[in-house]
Amino acid sequence: MNKTTAAAQVLDGNAIATAIKAEVAIDIERLRAQGIQPGLTVVMVGNHPASEVYVRNKVKTSAELGIASELLTPPGSVTTEEMLQLIEKLNAREDVDGILIQLPLPAHVDAKRLLEAVSPEKDVDGFHPVNVGRLQSGQPALVPCTPAGIIETLRRTGIPIAGKHAVVVGRSDIVGKPMAMLLLHENATVTICHSKTKDLEGFCRSADILVAAIGKAGIITPEMVRPGAVLIDVGMNRIQSQAEFDRFFAGDAKREAGFKKNGSVLMGDIDPHAFALASYYTPVPGGVGPLTIAMLMASTVRAARLRRGLPVST
Ligand code: NDP
Repeated sequence: MNKTTAAAQVLDGNAIATAIKAEVAIDIERLRAQGIQPGLTVVMVGNHPASEVYVRNKVKTSAELGIASELLTPPGSVTTEEMLQLIEKLNAREDVDGILIQLPLPAHVDAKRLLEAVSPEKDVDGFHPVNVGRLQSGQPALVPCTPAGIIETLRRTGIPIAGKHAVVVGRSDIVGKPMAMLLLHENATVTICHSKTKDLEGFCRSADILVAAIGKAGIITPEMVRPGAVLIDVGMNRIQSQAEFDRFFAGDAKREAGFKKNGSVLMGDIDPHAFALASYYTPVPGGVGPLTIAMLMASTVRAARLRRGLPVST
């Protein structure tokens, strides 16, 4: 077991998200003064109790900040063709700056085709190949919200990135790959690990900044963490067994009360015992999660600006 370093500091995602949203609200006021009303349309297909909470939160936050938001809910039986027609209409609408197709989609719908049908100018999630390419080549792009929020967190906290060894575990198009690219643009030396990586522990232990985006509860153990590292935990996993709870949270009375009440508890990919070794870390919940919605708001305003040729921050 590694030795504990000087006090690890929590990166408070809620506080950072609040600050970002306040700035976005000011920017929206500025745009409104120029007669521009940013608009976001969220499309959620079928019934998804898990997605519903996120989606309603996105729409609610948009409204609070002054974005004209709209939620479209086609039935689960909708076809790919019908969805393509809907997207075409949204692409053509002048009052829509951002289009978000909530994932996952039903298996019979061709998700790839839909995501590619969204106009790159309105692709606030940054999933369209044009935006992926723009991000890679360092051009102004719409960037996936979760990794963008992580970079904001590091920047705002004054955590140096340039010259550091950043290890990203996970290579999804939504988190891992864009995260690695953003860190590279910030001049980190970046390693991407995945399920076929040999010696994951060795790579993780050499990280100054370790981003875990895997989706497996507590897979990053204290032995895999270099004392003083910055730990960013993207994972959102629900654990339900008493044995798992005891392994990760024994003695945590507050979580135990929640576990007893709900029969489960949310945790990240990093074993919480590793946090004590870090210089900084994001907790789960309350770390990376809240940033994603704040960055979606920022992305919608960015899309409104880029589409009109107005200046944006980098
Ligand atoms: P994916 O399932 O798309 O990707 C997971 C990645 O982890 C893959 O690249 C996979 O490797 C890798 N992986 C799986 N097992 C291992 C292993 N044993 N060792 C090393 N690498 C492994 O997930 P996402 O990227 O979409 O999401 C990751 C996590 O982040 C999830 O828990 C998700 O819920 C959460 N999330 C949280 C968000 C937030 O706002 N907080 C937003 C988005 C996601 P391979 O490619 O080889 O299969």
